[in-house]
Amino acid sequence: MEQIYKVPCSHLSIIESIKDAVIVRDLNGKIFFVNSAAEKLFGYRADEILKQDVEIIIPSIKANEEKRLVESILWGEKVENYETERVDKFNNIIYVSVSLSALKDEEGKTIGITKVIRNITEKKRAEGKFQALLESAPDAMVIVNKFGQIVLVNAQTEKLFGHERGDLVGQEVEILIPLRFKGKHPDHRKHFFGDPKMREMGAGLELYGVRKDGSEFPVEISLSPLKLEEGTFVSAAIRDISIRKKSEAKFKGLLESAPDAMVIVNKEGNIQLINAQTEKIFDYKREEIIGKKVEILIPERFKGVHPNNRTGFFTEPRTRSMGAELELYGRKKDGTEFPVEISLSPIETEDGLLVSSAIRDITDKKKAAMELKDYANRLETSNKELEQFAYVASHDLQEPLRNISNYVELLEKRSIGLLNDESKHFLSVVVKSTERMKILIRELLNFSRISREKIIEKVDCTKIFNEVLADMDFIIRENNVEIITSELPLINANETEIKQVFQNLLSNAIKFKKQNINPQITVHCIKNNKEWEFSIHDNGIGIKEEYLKRIFFIFQRLHTETEYPGTGIGLATCKKIIELNEGKIWVSSQPGTGSTFYFTIPQ
Ligand code: ADP
Repeated sequence: MEQIYKVPCSHLSIIESIKDAVIVRDLNGKIFFVNSAAEKLFGYRADEILKQDVEIIIPSIKANEEKRLVESILWGEKVENYETERVDKFNNIIYVSVSLSALKDEEGKTIGITKVIRNITEKKRAEGKFQALLESAPDAMVIVNKFGQIVLVNAQTEKLFGHERGDLVGQEVEILIPLRFKGKHPDHRKHFFGDPKMREMGAGLELYGVRKDGSEFPVEISLSPLKLEEGTFVSAAIRDISIRKKSEAKFKGLLESAPDAMVIVNKEGNIQLINAQTEKIFDYKREEIIGKKVEILIPERFKGVHPNNRTGFFTEPRTRSMGAELELYGRKKDGTEFPVEISLSPIETEDGLLVSSAIRDITDKKKAAMELKDYANRLETSNKELEQFAYVASHDLQEPLRNISNYVELLEKRSIGLLNDESKHFLSVVVKSTERMKILIRELLNFSRISREKIIEKVDCTKIFNEVLADMDFIIRENNVEIITSELPLINANETEIKQVFQNLLSNAIKFKKQNINPQITVHCIKNNKEWEFSIHDNGIGIKEEYLKRIFFIFQRLHTETEYPGTGIGLATCKKIIELNEGKIWVSSQPGTGSTFYFTIPQ
């Protein structure tokens, strides 16, 4: 038996030259050969360890391991680079990688086990440090070898993908990729190893990870090559971007629902994002303008200055309307231009500062404004012509009317006794009509004299109102009028005109009293927003609802001259004065109860 333990001399020198420890044991576990590397590794001299049970170098927690491994060998399986722990003479734990093989005699019978043991303590330590480094990364880190096998993962990976570390290490990295992408991935992987450099994975593509339960989630992956002694690896930093995607989706939803065209541009002026409204008003398809310079949407003649303005915005980014006071235009794909209103706002994003521009096509608004302006111009011209006409007519009519009146008077005097009763009646009708016409023409002339050109001064309404009361003292007494007033404000207006307004409204309130009921009139003024609101309330006959607007037109009266004398110019005069003062006049009334006339004067 002795000779079989002998190792031939030539083999011995080979074995001694191996840096790894070599231990050979028989089938009972007795060690019968160690090389000097083994002596060094375990701290025993050969004579101390030979004939010892192999358990001498196996820590108690790994007691069954040796038996298991040996069984594998005897079954014809391979045990290579099996990482485990061993113990040296001084009870130190050594991390080792063990490869076992059967030692056979010349007849092929297994007579022992050869163990090649490599000390990997250093490597383990380095790995430990490396693992700690991985754990400190905020992203899920997956280290993959060039065969696509996962070598190392961190806790974030376990958490993100729902796999235990043990389930992942040694697996193909495609375990983390949804089925539909799996086919192409190995090619991409090979491509990376062909030219390994740090980069984003699938730039511009939507990437997804798949969890153990099959659910998917959007990810962002950056790859870096990792050159180690053992070869090149790739380290993939994987970030779950579900939350970001969700807020992006929300943002996009908001963008799409905006009534304006929204164009989001980066510092360089490249269009990053647009909404459907932009496609509509500029006639471009999204893909035609994304990534292009924003100047594509601007008429040729403004293109030159725009980049400068853009830079200006980025140096002082704040929400504002663009080109205040300027007429802005957009340019459609076919080159046609249209007027726009633009407001700009900065948006801070992960990709840096962007500017969002809300662009509104104001073609219709401009057209409407032009039409309105045109209409206002025409109205003003026609009003001026009318005023002029009323003035000229009433002025020029006065002269012939005076003649008629004088001569009718003469005729009346001279024909006393010559005329019969019927003719006398005719003549008196002519006299009365002439008188009325005189009044009408005088008031019409006064009415047409009210214009914008007048002195605006501080008017003390209390004082003015008291003057009106004094002027109307006789009528007030005659009609037993009770007047209640509160204090009236100082306003900016023309004194004569305001006096005229008070006079007209007060005399109407007395004139249109109910029979046998004394007029009771209340005059008030309140401050309403930025204007004074005056009210003159009476307990007179009131006005039917259908006439409430009509009575403010010139010559519109609701009664005959005999019922209530008047010309129908009073309220039209009031309206003209108030409206020239940028105020409003209106009435609320109930027939049989009374009326309240209101007018406002801006403060
Ligand atoms: P006039 O008083 O000369 O008839 P106005 O222009 O002052 O002309 O008034 C127009 C019409 O409005 C009056 O004829 C009258 O029918 C109606 N009206 C004006 N003020 C009052 C009032 N306080 N109560 C009832 N009706 C009024």
